[in-house]
Amino acid sequence: MTPGRRLFLALVHHPVLTADGRTVTTSVTNLDVHDLARSARTYSLAGLLIASPIEAQRRIVEHIVDYWNDPIHAARIPGRREALALVGVVCDIEEARERILAEAGQAPIVIGTSARPGPGRTSWHTLRTAIREAPETVRLIIMGTGWGLADEALRACDEILEPIEQASGYNHLSVRSATAVILDRLVGSERPEGAGT
Ligand code: SAM
Repeated sequence: MTPGRRLFLALVHHPVLTADGRTVTTSVTNLDVHDLARSARTYSLAGLLIASPIEAQRRIVEHIVDYWNDPIHAARIPGRREALALVGVVCDIEEARERILAEAGQAPIVIGTSARPGPGRTSWHTLRTAIREAPETVRLIIMGTGWGLADEALRACDEILEPIEQASGYNHLSVRSATAVILDRLVGSERPEGAGT
């Protein structure tokens, strides 16, 4: 059983921050939907929810999914349809919780992410171990947009994962890159020592 089987991912467009700390709603971008869907499929996640409070933005996501569900378009890039089949659309984090409860039969543990360190963060090791020791537990990882999840979004989470941090001190990963790193650290396959050398 793949460790990501009971793990959901959400991309949140509100409430997120601007560079000067205001709380706003960002627009859905086609690239985010595609890339996060491909990552979700790569790691065999249970699903990807795109959250926006703006109906027109939710319609855009539905249009993207419908487009790639069409066999004519799917034939162009066969793997893409399989990835986008994981995509669902919700208004907000609360609706994501409700959708997952209805789908998975269990309310998810909601885990926020942020590039900013802070008190009480859950370590990579703790969460990776918990996923393996309790594979039936349903979890939802929340990814932000803009300049990151606003504090009210982080407060709505049950846990906040420690940030991806490197000695470079440079920390401006895109949500697409950060998602891939987070998934690989949490549910990526173990590589036996010396593998691939
Ligand atoms: N400075 C922002 C922050 O503090 O989250 C990064 C914004 S980035 C464009 C959008 C999203 O990518 C963040 O909300 C978070 O979900 C994820 N992200 C980016 N860098 C990250 C990092 N170093 N550690 C964990 N998540 C990160």
